[in-house]
Amino acid sequence: VVVGARLAGCATAIPLARAGHRVVAIDRDRFPSNTLSTHGLFQGHLVELRRLGALDRLLALDPPKIRRFHVYHLGQHAVETAHAVDGIDYGLCIGREELDLALVESAREAGVEVRERTSATSLLWEDGRAAGIRYRSRDGDEGEIRAPLVVGADGRRSTVARLVGADVPYRGSRNGRGFVWWYLDDPKLGTRWRETLTLWQIGETHVMTAPMPHGRMIVILMGPAEDVPLFRTDPRAMWERVLREHRHLADRVAGAGAPGKPFTSREMPAFFRASSGSGWALAGDAGHYKDATIGQGIRDSLEWGRRLGEAAAPVLRDAPRLDEALARWERARDRAVLPTYHWANMQSRIVLRQPIAVEALRTFDRSCGPELGDVLSRVRTPQQVFSPLRGMVWMARALRRPGAERRTILGNLVQESLVQTHARRERLSNRFRPARRSASETPGWTWPPRTQASGPKAVPSASEPVGARESEAA
Ligand SMILES: Cc1cc2nc3c(=O)[nH]c(=O)nc-3n(C[C@H](O)[C@H](O)[C@H](O)COP(=O)(O)OP(=O)(O)OC[C@H]3O[C@@H](n4cnc5c(N)ncnc54)[C@H](O)[C@@H]3O)c2cc1C
Repeated sequence: VVVGARLAGCATAIPLARAGHRVVAIDRDRFPSNTLSTHGLFQGHLVELRRLGALDRLLALDPPKIRRFHVYHLGQHAVETAHAVDGIDYGLCIGREELDLALVESAREAGVEVRERTSATSLLWEDGRAAGIRYRSRDGDEGEIRAPLVVGADGRRSTVARLVGADVPYRGSRNGRGFVWWYLDDPKLGTRWRETLTLWQIGETHVMTAPMPHGRMIVILMGPAEDVPLFRTDPRAMWERVLREHRHLADRVAGAGAPGKPFTSREMPAFFRASSGSGWALAGDAGHYKDATIGQGIRDSLEWGRRLGEAAAPVLRDAPRLDEALARWERARDRAVLPTYHWANMQSRIVLRQPIAVEALRTFDRSCGPELGDVLSRVRTPQQVFSPLRGMVWMARALRRPGAERRTILGNLVQESLVQTHARRERLSNRFRPARRSASETPGWTWPPRTQASGPKAVPSASEPVGARESEAA
C-alpha cells in the first residue's frame, strides 16, 4: 500500500504492479489537482517519466520542447544547447495538474488501484512490523488495507513518517531563498523564447522563466526568503518593482499584462529522514527533500520511487529480505543524491557577486567541456562540472580581470573548497544516516518549519488558469 499518489507514489507503485503484485495507492487529493511546486523537467526527469510510461501522455499535450538554456550573471551570458540523455535532447515545463495526472493514468494502466480523496489515518502493526494502514475517505468511508509493505510517498509533512517515528529529520539545512511564481500567457509565441529556459541571477535573485503548454509560461523568482511576505501583501506593486529591477525579465514578459497573485513558498528546509524500517519505507519528499532552487526534486522522487518498487518487488513476501532490500535502497539513494543536495544548499544561499561563476559562464558559452545543463540533466555531478581544477583556472582568470575583487574571489573559493572537501570526506566514509553537519548546510532550520506552507487554497480545475490563486497561508 502506497500513501500519496503523485510522483514518488506512482513511481513506486508502477514497478510493483508490473511485477504482478496487487498495489493500492491512496491520496487525499483528487486528480487532476495542483500542489505546491514549480515544474522544470530536464532530460533526466523525462528519462524517468518515459520509464514509467508517462512521457507520451505529456507529449500528447504538444508542449514546447526546451532545447536552450540561457544563463546570466554579472553581465555575462551563456547560451547552452540541451545535450541528449538516453536520446532525449529537450526539457519540458508542465504544470502539476497535467504531470501528476499522466502518472496516475500510467499507474492505473500498469494495474495499480489508485483511490482518490482517501487519507491514511494510522498504521497497522504486527510483531513490530508495519502491516498496513487505516484510512478514511472524504465520503466518510473508513477501513483497513493490510499489506506486507507500507510506503509513505506523502510529501514533506509525511503522515507515515510521523506514524513510524521518523518525523524529525536527522540532518537538514535552512533555505536562504524563497519562491515566488506566476503563470502568464506567453507574449513570445512563435519565437525562440518558446524553446528557451532562462536562469538569470539579477542582484540577489535567481530568475527563471520557461515556456509551458497551451501558450502559457512561468516566471519564478528565487530571492531572499524574508522578502516573500512582501509579495503576498502587495503583489501588484511587487510585480512592477521586479520589472523595473530586472530588465531582462521585463523584456521577456513585455506585452503579457500584469498577472494575478503569485504562488509563494518561504520556509522549506532541505532534509534527510530515516527512510526505511520493518515493513515500511519513505519515498520522494517524505524521505528526503533537497532545496528546490536547482529543480531536481521531481526527478529524484521518480527515480528513487521507481528503484524502491524494483527493489521490493522480488522479496515482497519474505520479511527479512524485504527489510534488507529497503535498507540497501535507502543507503543507495542517499549516496546518489548527496552531491546534488550539497549543491542545492549552496545555491540556496544569497551570494551577491560570484566572479568565478562569471568565468564559468564564459567557458560554458564557448561550449568548452561539461556545462551547467549537464548538472541539471544529471549526467554529471556538480563536483565534476565545477571541479577543483576548473575552479583554479576560473579563479586565476577572475583575478587577472581589471578591477578584480580579490577578497570576494578568494572568499568564494574558500567556501566552495570547504564544501567539496566535506562532501568528498562524507562519500569516502560512506556512513549510514550521518548526522554530522556538512559545510554546505546552513544551521537554524527547525522541524516542523515555522512558516506554514501549503498547496493552493482551492484546487484549480484543469481548465482554470493555474496562476489565479495564492498558494501559501500567510
Ligand atoms: C516551491 C517548489 C518548487 C519546486 N520546483 C521544482 C522543479 O522545478 N523541478 C523539480 O524537479 N522539483 C521541484 N520541486 C520539488 C518537487 O515539487 C518535489 O520534490 C515533489 O513534488 C515530490 O513529490 P512527492 O510525490 O514525493 O510528494 P508530493 O508531490 O508532495 O505528493 C505527496 C502526496 O501525498 C498526499 N498525502 C499527504 N498526506 C496524505 C495522507 N495522510 N493520506 C493520503 N495522501 C496523503 C498529498 O495529497 C500529495 O498528493 C519544487 C518544490 C517546491 C516546494
